[in-house]
Amino acid sequence: MPLRHWETAGNAPIRVRPAKAGAIYFVALVMLSFLIAQGWALVQMRDVEIDNARIATFNMTRALAQQADDTLRAADVALVGVVDRLNAEGMAPSLLAQIERLLKQTAAKLPALDGVNVYDAQGRGLITSRQQITSSFDIADREYFQYHARNNDTQAHVGTPNTSRVSGALILPISRRINHADGTFAGVAVATIEIAYFREFQARFKLENQGAIMLMTDTGIMVTRRPFDASLVGADVTRGPVFKMYRSTGPEGTAVMTAKVDGIERLYSYRHLDHYPLVVASALSMNDVLAAWRKNIERTLATGAVLLFVLMVFGLRLIALIGERERAQQALTEAQHALESVNRELERLSLQDGLTGLSNRRHFDMALEEEFKRAMRAHTPLALLMIDVDFFKRFNDTYGHPAGDDCLKQLGTALRLAHSRPGDLAARYGGEELVVLLPNTDTGGAAELAERFRQAVLEQAIPHAGNPAGFVTVSIGVASCRPGRNQASGNALIEAADKALYRAKDGGRNRVCADLPKLRSMVG
Ligand code: GH3
Ligand code: MG
Ligand code: MG
Repeated sequence: MPLRHWETAGNAPIRVRPAKAGAIYFVALVMLSFLIAQGWALVQMRDVEIDNARIATFNMTRALAQQADDTLRAADVALVGVVDRLNAEGMAPSLLAQIERLLKQTAAKLPALDGVNVYDAQGRGLITSRQQITSSFDIADREYFQYHARNNDTQAHVGTPNTSRVSGALILPISRRINHADGTFAGVAVATIEIAYFREFQARFKLENQGAIMLMTDTGIMVTRRPFDASLVGADVTRGPVFKMYRSTGPEGTAVMTAKVDGIERLYSYRHLDHYPLVVASALSMNDVLAAWRKNIERTLATGAVLLFVLMVFGLRLIALIGERERAQQALTEAQHALESVNRELERLSLQDGLTGLSNRRHFDMALEEEFKRAMRAHTPLALLMIDVDFFKRFNDTYGHPAGDDCLKQLGTALRLAHSRPGDLAARYGGEELVVLLPNTDTGGAAELAERFRQAVLEQAIPHAGNPAGFVTVSIGVASCRPGRNQASGNALIEAADKALYRAKDGGRNRVCADLPKLRSMVG
């Protein structure tokens, strides 16, 4: 059938490509990746700052420990000399006077030393390295004196920091026991180190605002601290973060902790001295450590925001462009579909008869040729009805041409209803002549349909004064063929149907005639 190409054309569903959605996802992904990269870089930078601060506090603590160790050792060396001589030679006044002279010389060379003093077994001062004695010279109540009186060991003892009764300065005492020849307690030699000396050294480090440095005994007594607070000298710091960490972690460590005193979070590094029972610690506040990083965050966020904004502007432009293109494409597709449907309508109209709504002559000619070939290939019969309205000229003359047109319309409707198979084709052949092409139908089947239609026309009972029947009637010629290979056209079928129609007319009209004998010769 010639209808095939437009029956299937242009019916594909409109496929909207999600390019705009893709662009939105892409732009969002780029912006998200940018944010993640920025966040990651900031985290990395923070870690680097903390690592650097860790190294800085570690090194500072080492230097502080070394200085404290050296200072105590220098004082201790002076003590050892005195104690060795007194242990060996006794405490004769002449020897004491000699040692005192020596001590004055030694002490003058040691800037950290407040003084070196020797006390007898009752704690009374015997000799001093100082030039003059400023106050009471009795230390029987001092912790280190009582320690040596009780413990017969030869080790140096680092006492608790206090105010010197000799000089009035804040001092850290380091002491050794003096024995009589029989090993009994003979007295104590004490070197006092000025706490100011440690303070000066601590002051040399660059600490930022909230940094801190501490020197304490390993039993948790504060020796000195930066920032300095005189009331903290000798204070119990066993509950402080450094001491707790020292207790739990060992002689050396680094950690971030919050001090109870001021609630400030700091990075602490501490270390026990190699030779003396003291612990030094240094700390930088996390605020200071991260100050540069925070500034960096602001800069990074500012530039990041600008970049993000630029990215967003271009991204939105891109999305808009893609959206526009997609809309244009969709409009184009829709226009194409509309055009196709108009084309289909045009094609339909070009094949339809305007008056009756049946197929027109052109369509019939195309269908006849097509069906003839198909019947030839399939060896199936093909039938044709040729219908002519009886006395139609008179009908027009009586009722007028428009009434004639209405009558033809009615007949067209009746014919559409009479033939039921989808392959059948009813057409207006010309004037008041109609045809029905019936594929795969023999003469008998076609005559049946013709008779049905003739009856249907009668049942319509359209008044026709010029027709002896009184109503509109039709005459129908029926022909069929079995097209052979040598029979290549449907014209013979038309002629045969036409002949049958004439016979129907001749036979008195309002009847069906089939033309059998003529068609036999067409069977191949
Ligand atoms: P018969 O067929 O019975 O021998 O008589 P008839 O009067 O119908 O003769 P014929 O078939 O030759 O007449 C054709 C007439 O059909 C001529 C014309 O008046 C009428 N006719 C043809 N086409 C149309 C049409 O489109 N509209 C109208 N109203 N009349 C038409
Ligand atoms: Mg006619
Ligand atoms: Mg006629």
